Amino acid sequence: MEDALLRKNYPFFDQHPDLIYFDNAATALKPRCVIDALVRYYEKESVNVHRSAYPLAQALEKRYEQAREQVASFLHAQAEEIIFTGGTTAAMNQLAYALLPQLTDGDVILTTYAEHASCILPFLHLKQFKRIEVAYIPLDAHGRFSLPALKASLHSRVKAVVLAEIGNVLGYRLPLAQIAELVHEAGALLFVDGAQSAAHGRTDVKASKVDAFACSAHKLGATTGVGALYLKKELFPVLQPAFYGGTSNCDFDEAGHIVLCEGSAGYEAGTPPIEGAIAFGEACAYLQKIGLDVIEAKEQQLKEHLFAGLKKIAHVTLWNEDSAVPIAAFTIDHIHVQDAAAYFAKHGVCLRSGQHCARLLKQAIDAKATLRVSLAFYNTIEEIDRFLALCEKITLDACVDLYME
Ligand code: PMP
Repeated sequence: MEDALLRKNYPFFDQHPDLIYFDNAATALKPRCVIDALVRYYEKESVNVHRSAYPLAQALEKRYEQAREQVASFLHAQAEEIIFTGGTTAAMNQLAYALLPQLTDGDVILTTYAEHASCILPFLHLKQFKRIEVAYIPLDAHGRFSLPALKASLHSRVKAVVLAEIGNVLGYRLPLAQIAELVHEAGALLFVDGAQSAAHGRTDVKASKVDAFACSAHKLGATTGVGALYLKKELFPVLQPAFYGGTSNCDFDEAGHIVLCEGSAGYEAGTPPIEGAIAFGEACAYLQKIGLDVIEAKEQQLKEHLFAGLKKIAHVTLWNEDSAVPIAAFTIDHIHVQDAAAYFAKHGVCLRSGQHCARLLKQAIDAKATLRVSLAFYNTIEEIDRFLALCEKITLDACVDLYME
């Protein structure tokens, strides 16, 4: 699709014609169809779901379940395996609490230094309840994961392995199917953080044989505070819900005998994020309509242009040449990342600087902090060229001058 036509779907560009939005790994821009779905809910449909008899509520409930199907189709899961959550962080916390009763002292959760805090902290928190260990699969000097390192780290006390399919700083893509095979051979579960990967091409939770996969709606162009947790159906009896309350139970008595609703409904206690789920479904359908192959091809083209440009600039160090997606983590010689970010901001470029919630990554690679440019398929070669020209021109003096203004 032609850039100008595609960008017409995003009201953000009309509102901010001079900005270059290169912070898509933080959150994606929202297409018009998602905004329309939200407005429609608030103007016409804003009732609650769950078993009310009046037609408006029944129609909305249908729409909510349709959204579950849209998300399931996007992830190649069955609708009954999709649990609407508050996002990737919420899903990872749910998984940690679900795992807790299964753990005994001495058990191990495996992860890596490259993970986002949402993959590590929920499991570190479990140390408050059981004498378990969180251990880290060694990465190479570029922060890259390897199957032999995983194999060497697995043993009979490992109960779960928690990894991002695509990291939010270095952008490497992990071979999930091969990882799942090793993890399952060792008798452990594989929980995948799909916050970044769901936004970059095709996700197939069945083909990759993961046990659980979490993603956030806002990274796909829908609302914040909403997400999906795919949980393999066979695991429902093993990994019990973390939250309890109205609507997720069919019956309970005063002694605590609880009968949960079947399937994902048993995991959705309380009023769910109705409009968020609907917007999420809409965003998935929108991306599928554009074509995930088309999106991937465009992103590869943008990545190659960006990476080739950055590599040509002598004072730029690119830390993730092998990134699978257009996420570039880089530093500029002799300029602190915060100062550089202020310079880019001054020139209308929205990017991130710092540790990007992956605080342990500095123990794997030689950079304490980085600048991060993260592109989406609606970015353009022309925007990259404008940004590269700024990278060429940036000097320490130009950054210091910003504080003198
Ligand atoms: N994991 C990764 C790899 C992420 O990039 C993010 C978002 N920055 C998260 C988890 C957390 O997502 P959310 O804040 O939507 O819960």
